[in-house]
Amino acid sequence: MQSMQEIQEYLRAHKLPEFRAKQILQAVYKEGKGSYDEIAVLPKNLREQFARDLPILCFEKTNEVRSKSGDTVKTLFKLHDGLLVEGVLMRFKNGRNSVCISSQVGCGLKCTFCATGTMGFTRNLTVEEIADQVLYFDQMLKSEQGARVTHVIFMGMGEPFLNYDNVIGAIRTLNDPDCLNLAARHITVSTSGIVPSINKLADFPLQVNLAVSIHAPNQELRESMMPIAKAYKLDQLIAALKAYGDKTKRRISYEYVMLYDKNDSPELARQLAELIRGQRAHVNLIPYNETYLGFKNAGKSRIDHFREILESYKIPTTVRVSLGQDISAACGQLAVEERKPPRPPSVVPIVQ
Ligand code: SF4
Repeated sequence: MQSMQEIQEYLRAHKLPEFRAKQILQAVYKEGKGSYDEIAVLPKNLREQFARDLPILCFEKTNEVRSKSGDTVKTLFKLHDGLLVEGVLMRFKNGRNSVCISSQVGCGLKCTFCATGTMGFTRNLTVEEIADQVLYFDQMLKSEQGARVTHVIFMGMGEPFLNYDNVIGAIRTLNDPDCLNLAARHITVSTSGIVPSINKLADFPLQVNLAVSIHAPNQELRESMMPIAKAYKLDQLIAALKAYGDKTKRRISYEYVMLYDKNDSPELARQLAELIRGQRAHVNLIPYNETYLGFKNAGKSRIDHFREILESYKIPTTVRVSLGQDISAACGQLAVEERKPPRPPSVVPIVQ
């Protein structure tokens, strides 16, 4: 859905009253109308015109899969130029409805354990293409169970901080009281560690959460898993995060995907604890969904031991709850499968 300003510009250009903009946004965002035909306050001729010129969603759904339990829905969206991105809705038992969204088509960062990285980068998503992923799931929740999206995570395809301006624009739309009115504190941006954007975010007035994919506690291991670590070295990254924490007083979430015999040893847990000790930080350990890429999940006992070591340093640590394993619910999977020949069943990690 275009912004209030864009719709108003359109109305002015077509010599139509500007109050129609408010009516459209009210119907779409507050009442969950998915089609202009349902917006009774609009005259019929305008409904047809707006449906053609101001589509409610800027993309089409091309594929959708649901987990057996119904708690997870994964949708593939076809953009105006035929490119594909995907979003995932996760409904938790405590009433939380989280949407994991994409910020780019593909990703150029080539993390060795990530299927999206094998696609390469195609282009950045626009503000509208990003925000509409949330609008799509919000409308689905409203119509199916009278519920709303409560949390948004930028942890799908792409590196959000390499599309900084559009990601910030989308956050403003999500937060806008005339649009989705989502609390900034319920929006998390996850980055692989783009230092200049972390510095910029420290000055952004909305209190969004920052998650950082750390995945390894030393430079050598990290750059062997994440090539971007060669451009933004670990010591530089940690210094930027300390400055960010000091300035914003916000807690940073460190994401750590648990790969068997790669980054899951007790020694590395101690190194991680030493690295981030003293910061307002939280560590989120991510069980790895195994893929054709050859890495194995660390397994429960190794993950539990890793967590215990971090906790012994008084670092709050959680293990991510994985939903929708039966539908390969991690971001990037549907789009990767759509572009490549079939291969053995696999699941891509939900990692940034
Ligand atoms: S893990 Fe994130 S940053 Fe790395 S290749 Fe995948 S999508 Fe890109």
